[in-house]
Amino acid sequence: MSVITNYPPTAELQALDAAHHMHPFTANAELAQKGARIIVRADGVRLTDSDGAEMIDAMAGLWCVNIGYGRHELAEAAARQMRELPYYNTFFQTSHVPALQLAAKLAELAPGDLNHVFFAAGGSEANDTNIRMVRHYWARKGQPEKRVIISRRNAYHGSSMGSASLGGMAGMHAQGGMPIPDIVHIDQPNWYAEGGDSDPQEFGIARARQLEAKIAELGADKVAAFIAEPVQGAGGVIVPPESYWPEIKRICAEHDILLIADEVICGFGRIGHWFGSQSYDIQPHIMTIAKGLSSGYAPIGGSIVCDEVAEVIGGGEFNHGYTYSGHPVAAAVALENLRILEEEKIVQRVHDDTGPYLTEAWARLADHPLVGEAVNRGLMASIALTPDKARRAPFAAPVGTVGLIARERCFANNLVMRHVGDRMIISPPLIISRDDIDEVILRATRALDETLETLHQRNLM
Ligand code: PMP
Repeated sequence: MSVITNYPPTAELQALDAAHHMHPFTANAELAQKGARIIVRADGVRLTDSDGAEMIDAMAGLWCVNIGYGRHELAEAAARQMRELPYYNTFFQTSHVPALQLAAKLAELAPGDLNHVFFAAGGSEANDTNIRMVRHYWARKGQPEKRVIISRRNAYHGSSMGSASLGGMAGMHAQGGMPIPDIVHIDQPNWYAEGGDSDPQEFGIARARQLEAKIAELGADKVAAFIAEPVQGAGGVIVPPESYWPEIKRICAEHDILLIADEVICGFGRIGHWFGSQSYDIQPHIMTIAKGLSSGYAPIGGSIVCDEVAEVIGGGEFNHGYTYSGHPVAAAVALENLRILEEEKIVQRVHDDTGPYLTEAWARLADHPLVGEAVNRGLMASIALTPDKARRAPFAAPVGTVGLIARERCFANNLVMRHVGDRMIISPPLIISRDDIDEVILRATRALDETLETLHQRNLM
């Protein structure tokens, strides 16, 4: 394998980065002071930075590198497709082989009658498609006023105007004039943070019934759809009580509301089935996909749409599409990624082996004095940090202060974990071995010990 090693020194790279590169979700001036850590290569579950340090990437990049780094088959697929047909569109009565083959493959993998795919370049674009698609669906059925979409606080559905409006992140809405009209939010099924003394299952039902109450308030004739992630990811890996989804299903069916499952994280094996909807026995009308579709090797996403919605939309022209909808190189890479996931039985391995193994190992973190709960579903997991386990109390310091300290201690131990407020989360490549799961737990425990020490030193608890 050829390795590119002739990089300029790290300080020079950091200076260029600070001078010209605006990082997403980052206070850039602050980062410029510190200098970004520059990742130069990766293999399996491990990253290497420009100083040669090796880290375990327990986040699979941004929850996306499902088959792990370094799979040259995907590079070959991209190179082959680039030579053959690097680009063409599917707007004006043409198609191409990678897009049509990928759509057919996704129809085969997706549950029920989710048989049609509208492609995008990522999850945000796909959710923008969904907003327009569900509203246009009802309009074509003679109900143009059925256009409100109900989502949840603390949900993440993307960063464009439409998808960030669907999301329930107050910090995002505060910048740039969101949400756009006719998107409303109900509370999330986060028992740990918001359930008080209630029974978790009763809490799950109560949170689901907020959907019914919101539909009653607005009128079912005004509500187009409900959107949710099967397990909230960027919100902090919030696993809903088992009672939640059956009740949501009942409510959507009874009130004739379309159900959109945002599978951008849960899809492609993350929680032990091809799609999170299968893990929770949900039959959505539309699923949003991205990330694991190509394991992040190429930017591609889309909406997998059921027969009924596709038929109604397809009865006329849908004035919507992206230059890179179904990009042939990205589609060829995705097809190769799906082949590997399938042939190497990676999804099954998460279900039968590494998922249950992580459940056992992760649960042991709950014994740590800083950990209020340790939860997972398949290979996504979180811990809640607390100064008082019995009360599930938050810290006195502003939310995220302790989480950030813990993340920095993880980094110092060559473990990439992320913090969401004062929750710590992981979502490793699905090919992670049992030994590497053990190594993640070992490094995380060390980081938690160091965090506790820091909190005492700084009088933060
Ligand atoms: N939906 C969910 C559930 C996500 O987690 C994300 C990305 N983290 C998105 C949508 C947006 O995807 P993208 O960043 O590819 O636009």
